[in-house]
Amino acid sequence: MSSRPVYSIVAPVFNEVGNLRRFYAEVVAALDSTAESWELLLVDDGSTDGSQELMLELAAADSRLSVIGLARNFGHQIAVTAGVDYARGQAVILIDADLQDPPAVIPRLIEKWRDGFQVVYAVRSERRGESLLKRLSAKVFYRMIHRITEIDIPVDTGDFRLMDAQVAQVLRQMREHHRFVRGMTSWVGFKQTGVEYVREQRAWGVTKYPLRKMIAFALDAVTSFSFFPLQIMIYVSFILASASLVVGAVISYLRLARGEQFFGGQATTIILLLLLSSFQLFFLFIIGQYVARTYNESRDRPLYVVASTAGLRPAQVGTQRVQVAPAGQQRATEASAEETHNDDL
Ligand code: UDP
Ligand code: MG
Repeated sequence: MSSRPVYSIVAPVFNEVGNLRRFYAEVVAALDSTAESWELLLVDDGSTDGSQELMLELAAADSRLSVIGLARNFGHQIAVTAGVDYARGQAVILIDADLQDPPAVIPRLIEKWRDGFQVVYAVRSERRGESLLKRLSAKVFYRMIHRITEIDIPVDTGDFRLMDAQVAQVLRQMREHHRFVRGMTSWVGFKQTGVEYVREQRAWGVTKYPLRKMIAFALDAVTSFSFFPLQIMIYVSFILASASLVVGAVISYLRLARGEQFFGGQATTIILLLLLSSFQLFFLFIIGQYVARTYNESRDRPLYVVASTAGLRPAQVGTQRVQVAPAGQQRATEASAEETHNDDL
């Protein structure tokens, strides 16, 4: 049997041991309701809490499930990318493993795909159980991204989405290291639409996105899709230049025409010096962000390293630059899944 599955579900996993069984069960329930073939690709992004052992146990019992074990924690966006690289489905669905994106929504995404849309993204109409800071920062973040980028990245939309194999194929060719996957799928184009859903509370565990990572993520998003931060420098310089003309004129007038001494104190000088230095350092930081990313891209390292796989064959990846362990080190389940995964390349 086993030709290409209709659906590939890709879920990144970083220490989700308490969520995996339920997540797997809900995916099975949602996908089996379609009565079509599917595969579930779990990408282990360097878990240390026994998630991998549990995934391997589940994969051993169900040939539709595969596990891609990354050599360390590469981050959410890279883990998703690895999953897309291996996915063979006619439609690829990205979903978080913590049940915040309910698998029960998947059939609604599929429906739109059947209607002829190549990207169906899930829009959060409501977010449950997240801190005020997270909700507020997310709201501001999505609106800012929407405003300053040229492509149309929908607001309140995470990575939970379905994409047609065509779109996945384009995504596989976009090998940038600083990835904002939701922006990248918007960039591809084709017919796109959204489906609203309620983003649930995390079923178990805590968020893997502390403030530090959220800021790095936001910087990646902005620098990947906009030069606006570089362009605002010119406006700031115009404003400062105009201010200097006005202040210069006022001071000259006061001194020459009325003999008054204004703005003479050292304090003014010191305050202005500090203010302007802070502007300059801020813009140097912005330039540095772009320069560092340019350097990082130019090194052209592989996006991730795969340490082990179970339930699939590395050959599935085709021409992608992915490192895999020698065959001898792969998990035992791999051999048994070979027959089911070998005929569509
Ligand atoms: N995740 C990952 N690598 C990371 C961080 C997160 O694979 O470095 C996974 C995580 O296991 C989850 C998904 O990405 O399935 C979303 O992460 P999380 O729920 O922590 O983010 P949040 O929903 O809080 O934004
Ligand atoms: Mg989450």
